[in-house]
Amino acid sequence: MSSEKLRFDSKLIHSGGFEDALGSATTPIYQSSTFKFKSADHGAQCFSGESDGYIYTRISNPTIRELENTVADLENGFGGIATSSGMGAINTMYMAYLEQGAHIISHEAVYGPARVVLENFWTKFGVECTFLDTADLNAVKAALQPNTRLLYTETPANPTIGISDLKALADIAHNAGIPLVVDNTFCSPYLQKPLDLGADVVLHSMTKFINGHADIVAGMLVAKKEEDYNKLRTVMVNLGCNMDPLQAFQTRRGLKTLAIRIDRAQENAIKIAEYLEQHPKIEWVKYPGLKSHPQYDLAQQQMSGPGAMMSFEVKGGIGSGKILMDNVKLALLAVSLGGIETLIQHPASMTHSKMTSESKKIAGITDGLVRLAVGIENVEDIINDLDQALAKV
Ligand SMILES: *Cc1c(COP(=O)(O)O)cnc(C)c1O
Repeated sequence: MSSEKLRFDSKLIHSGGFEDALGSATTPIYQSSTFKFKSADHGAQCFSGESDGYIYTRISNPTIRELENTVADLENGFGGIATSSGMGAINTMYMAYLEQGAHIISHEAVYGPARVVLENFWTKFGVECTFLDTADLNAVKAALQPNTRLLYTETPANPTIGISDLKALADIAHNAGIPLVVDNTFCSPYLQKPLDLGADVVLHSMTKFINGHADIVAGMLVAKKEEDYNKLRTVMVNLGCNMDPLQAFQTRRGLKTLAIRIDRAQENAIKIAEYLEQHPKIEWVKYPGLKSHPQYDLAQQQMSGPGAMMSFEVKGGIGSGKILMDNVKLALLAVSLGGIETLIQHPASMTHSKMTSESKKIAGITDGLVRLAVGIENVEDIINDLDQALAKV
């Protein structure tokens, strides 16, 4: 059955279009670096593109292609390009769109290393970067320059959970003749489809929700148009930040349960956000599913659910936040997100510690901000855990 006719949660299981000659129910792990040609002519046809036979795993591999086809189908894109990590996807994308003397506009709270690469490496080639809150559309418009080549954002933003209006950003980018690229890691295509909202490229750290089991590091780019797809694939193949077949197999397996995992984590997250919001030791909670979120209405329009990521401020600043983190027993004190287990972390001293205190302040990353990635445990157990740890604050 053509997966076009299937609904999203069925596509998770059946998309990818792989038919194994032996009737295998899952796509086998083609753990081979290279592939035999049937003849010299066939080899020539594979290289010229006349035949879509496999050549070499850095270029393409059946296990990896099945995953690429699946994620591209879920994001409603032309094609997917799997990478060794989320950063592999981000760096492939930078290399495809930036050039000497180019200017990029990016979210000020974009994933830390994605900013480090721009500020420390691309500036060596004369690339200028403007970091701002892409939720502020006037600021984005005002930052456009004749040499702006790329608008790159992440929504909800990490760890501030700010929401940027993707339709409006796509219009701004296209009026300026540049692409909009969106990091969709926090939502996955189950909750948000940036290409449908006008973005040109969507990227993922599949380490997070897509694989979902905290046992793989992996990335993916999906382009809406063939032209962007070809450009990105050429860069990935030549830079060599390709995925491995075993990594593709494990990621494809994790992806099958994406919808039921997110449904459960989100159901938990809504209850936890409500619990935290009424707690006397909590200053504020930022979660797209709470009416108190400043962009609640936009989140309702743009996302099909509020997700499982939230941040909150414990009263008493950094000291109180540390007491909370040192006393949780069920939640793991760890970075990352999107897995089956609940994770808690402190961005100011962990993921965002390399930012200057000035840029942390501008990006809204306060010293007491705690980020919670809600898992699929029983919600009573998660709330009891937070409750006993907060009692010690
Ligand atoms: C983790 C993460 C990345 C980087 O992905 P890796 O797989 O760790 O390389 C990029 N963007 C977001 C939003 C992330 O959470």
